Amino acid sequence: MESLIDRAASDLARSGYAIALTGAGISTESGIPDFRGPGGIWTRNPEAEKRAYRSYENFLVDPRAYWEERLSGEAPFATLFREVEKAQPNPGHLALAELEGLGILKCVITQNVDGLHRKAGSVNLLEYHGCAFKLRCASCGVRFDRDEYDLEELRVKGELPPLCRKCGGVVKSDTVSFGEPIPQDVAQQSQEEAHRCDLMLICGTSAVVYPFAQLPQIAGQRQAATIVEVNAEPTPLTQGGISDYLIQGRTGDILPRIAQEVRRRLPG
Ligand code: NAD
Repeated sequence: MESLIDRAASDLARSGYAIALTGAGISTESGIPDFRGPGGIWTRNPEAEKRAYRSYENFLVDPRAYWEERLSGEAPFATLFREVEKAQPNPGHLALAELEGLGILKCVITQNVDGLHRKAGSVNLLEYHGCAFKLRCASCGVRFDRDEYDLEELRVKGELPPLCRKCGGVVKSDTVSFGEPIPQDVAQQSQEEAHRCDLMLICGTSAVVYPFAQLPQIAGQRQAATIVEVNAEPTPLTQGGISDYLIQGRTGDILPRIAQEVRRRLPG
């Protein structure tokens, strides 16, 4: 393992445009469960998974009912959101923010909705599946901090769903539901980053959720791009030969060690 950490550190230190991709695995050490692991959200509550698949359709058909369910605390993601509220970044998030601060990582693209990369200090961040602390207009796509709306007051007054302050359209959670297209701005920027990078550091994702899982494929098509995985277990990227190598273990353990080795290699 030590030699793989060294290898990743020298690959990063030599890279011209390194980016990171992250998934639910980087946040399990912050106490946020993933979906299908042993303590996963769907594992504990399979009925919630079925309802989650209907959530976007419900929003399109009846946005008021969608919001009433969300605010009732009974929504399929209620458990995830309760954990997200109190979670703090762990050493894995902090290491990626440090690598960005060192000028090595140019961008982090995350599937996570927990806001922990931003809390850790990552700046150039693309939240592919949105953010639990934001709302988004379904018509014009503009985003708002969740605190900009008093959702409870709207519920009590019977004024749900919230309406966009820019165009008057219906507002939903910024988090991308099953069946909902990825917002165009973030989808396009993520593709550009995947085409541009010469190193992709993929952390804590099983990389099976599409279209996010296309991003490693885009980089993998170019010989010039090195793909490094840090994950608790092999994934389809490992098995399919998309990644050049896997450093197997916890992101909270491995990423800080990589960052430390990168720091040692930088001049001054
Ligand atoms: P996933 O659950 O499919 O895969 C997580 C991967 O991380 C697994 O391979 C697992 O073995 C690994 N892992 C778990 N803990 C780890 C650790 N400490 N160190 C290294 N590896 C670890 O997650 P995914 O690929 O992100 O896809 C699931 C979807 O769930 C995503 O779309 C995401 O938006 C959503 N989700 C997000 C959160 C969050 O915001 N924190 C939580 C749950 C689910």
